Amino acid sequence: MRSLWMAAWVVAGLSGCASAPPPPPVLPPISADAPQLGPAGLPPAGPQAQGRVGGANKDWLVYLPAAGDSVEGVAQRFLGSPLKAWQLTQANAGLTTLEAGRAVRVPISPPPPWGVSLDGLQTVPVLCYHRFTPGKGPTRSKMILAADDFEAQLKWLQREGYRALRTGEFQAFIEGREALPPRSVLLTVDDGFASFFEHAFPLLKKYQMPATLFIYTDVIGIASGLSWSQLRELAKSGLVDIQAHSRTHRNLSEMQPGEGDAQYRRNLAQELRHPRAELERQLGMLGVKVQHFAYPYGASNDKVLEALNAEGYALGFTVRAGGNAFYEQPQLIHRTMIYGDQTLDDFAGRVQSQRPLNRP
Ligand SMILES: [Zn+2]
Repeated sequence: MRSLWMAAWVVAGLSGCASAPPPPPVLPPISADAPQLGPAGLPPAGPQAQGRVGGANKDWLVYLPAAGDSVEGVAQRFLGSPLKAWQLTQANAGLTTLEAGRAVRVPISPPPPWGVSLDGLQTVPVLCYHRFTPGKGPTRSKMILAADDFEAQLKWLQREGYRALRTGEFQAFIEGREALPPRSVLLTVDDGFASFFEHAFPLLKKYQMPATLFIYTDVIGIASGLSWSQLRELAKSGLVDIQAHSRTHRNLSEMQPGEGDAQYRRNLAQELRHPRAELERQLGMLGVKVQHFAYPYGASNDKVLEALNAEGYALGFTVRAGGNAFYEQPQLIHRTMIYGDQTLDDFAGRVQSQRPLNRP
């Protein structure tokens, strides 16, 4: 079936290819401001595709895979990143594996980055976790999720065709630079407790799903907090992007008694500056680059947003529930809390990847 429409499309779209040599493929430019993903943004290195180009126009090229080629390798070669393999899958009726010599089409003209289709407006759910414990839920506190329940959620996301994003991909979408797979999700974990390393990280590795850790630096090294050596292992894994969640975890939106406006502003700057400096000093050689901030308790105000901008953070994460459309304000990204007392059905109901166009 696929080869039939492919043949028809090749004839219709590339007539003349048989008699004249095909024009060289027009590759999309790799922009200088492409997201800086760091190790957590890099998928596992795979071989670049080795097949040949059968023909091209400005939007598409026909590619004849060599033995051993993968869709990720083709995406790496023609679209600039293996993370764009979904664009090939989408353009080839769900194709995820290649057969040597069997033509596939490669969409070399990038899709529009706003995720609008006849079905609705794409929204990206950002899920927010805290602590983990072994076994099954419900747990003694709703802020703690049982590992078996976390695994059931990862399985559900996979079964439903969700791809867990790298933070850099999400940033590129919010900044209007890149399209995302229709079912995208960003997994985030707040605070920096060791239970993340012990119970959730092994599952992220098992399912090869990346996540973003928002850590406040005063938690590092305390009894229940992550250690620097655990943080190094997370950073090296290529699956966990480490970002900032303040220094002390104070509520940034509330002035302390007797603090005064000038001191409050200085303290805000410190709460934003210190974690970035410390995380980059300790983990920068592993590619950690701090550009994103999750507000403790999700709380912010105008002064906090001003400080966030002044410190050059690209995104600020709240805990206001809901998906994120391309036009979301970068300093007020929605996140949906996932609690330890929720069922899998509750969870499924909270993951919204689309909004009807006629509803705000
Ligand atoms: Zn927190």
